[in-house]
Amino acid sequence: MAGNARLARLSSHRPCGVCAPVPRRHRCRSTGFCRRVWSGIAMSETLELARALIARRSVTPEDGGCQAILGERLAAAGFTIDHMPRGHVLNLWARHGSAAPLVCFAGHTDVVPPGPLTHWITDPFAPTERDGRLYGRGAADMKTSVAAFTIAAERFVAAHPDHSGSIAILVTSDEEGDAVDGTVRVVETLSGRGEGIDYAIVGEPTCVTRFGDTIKNGRRGSLSGTLHVKGVQGHIAYPHLAKNPIHAAMPALAELGAITWDEGNAHFPPTAWQISNIRAGTGASNVIPGDLTVLFNFRFSTASTEQGLKERVHALLDRHGLDYELKWTLGARPFLTEAGPLLKAALGAVREITGVEPEISTTGGTSDGRFIAVVAKEVIEFGPLNESIHKLNEYVAIEDIEPLTRIYGRILERLLLPR
Ligand SMILES: [Zn+2]
Repeated sequence: MAGNARLARLSSHRPCGVCAPVPRRHRCRSTGFCRRVWSGIAMSETLELARALIARRSVTPEDGGCQAILGERLAAAGFTIDHMPRGHVLNLWARHGSAAPLVCFAGHTDVVPPGPLTHWITDPFAPTERDGRLYGRGAADMKTSVAAFTIAAERFVAAHPDHSGSIAILVTSDEEGDAVDGTVRVVETLSGRGEGIDYAIVGEPTCVTRFGDTIKNGRRGSLSGTLHVKGVQGHIAYPHLAKNPIHAAMPALAELGAITWDEGNAHFPPTAWQISNIRAGTGASNVIPGDLTVLFNFRFSTASTEQGLKERVHALLDRHGLDYELKWTLGARPFLTEAGPLLKAALGAVREITGVEPEISTTGGTSDGRFIAVVAKEVIEFGPLNESIHKLNEYVAIEDIEPLTRIYGRILERLLLPR
């Protein structure tokens, strides 16, 4: 394809001294072409914005000034800007239009710590282009996606000022850390004012070996329990005067470990229950312990519910006659977006721009999609390759940056323009 041939030529193109590091309109000494003529491929606006964001040191929960850049740009493009800071965390909600459906791009400006700087070839907060890649902390996770959907939204609004529906951008600086004051708080505020999202695209890096190969349409839920079983401490030679919580709990734990919680479904494997820690005993070999603590976790599919799992565990522990306390922590609700307008639009856009047939997947840990799914009818995740995320010398392929922007733009066109 012509586009691919241009990209291939471009990736072998070594920028001249003017091309890099500052993109300017000029005739490139090594190709004879003006880089701006190739805008959208070479020195795309997205690349420029990604570089500006990477240059902001924003180790979680810091934002480093990224959201100020985004807010200023989006305000200039006609978006209404709502900064929603909470403690040390910065959150940005930008919206264009007031009608339904609302299409929302979501992401984060915080990054994980870079690790030992001496192991980075170049400064993680000095964006560097080398061998067709843009290097820097957050290049893949996920400042390039944030730049790409911001530029895609700007272009879309400029080209279609009277578009139907609305576009929103939700960005937080608390995704890589505790995730307690970030997206979850924005979602609470939106719920409070009755602002629902129809379609949400999270820009997490989802692709595995080739750009375009994976779209995520859900994630499993995570439910943790801390179980304290009470006994009576005593001398091990006088068991009739004590009550051993280990002995009391073992049959119940064995039964919990053997339960088939559900069969999973077409999108998720069966729900799994696992013990992660057991603690009991004083350290002495002649003392029956007075307490037992068990930490466990469910990774659960949409075939089960949080409430249903809790009820089943309590019923079992009660049946075994245990004297216990059980504290629950819901890490994430599962979410799933089945075939619908958003998945159809995303699949079409990825196929059209990359020529790759994406796999639809629910693998991986948790993401902010778990919070957004509370107020959004459909949630998917799509972004660049994830092979270098959280690693030393994190990067994104420069040739994927403009196609990523175009994919986000095509999703908007497919959802908000009349056919
Ligand atoms: Zn991320």
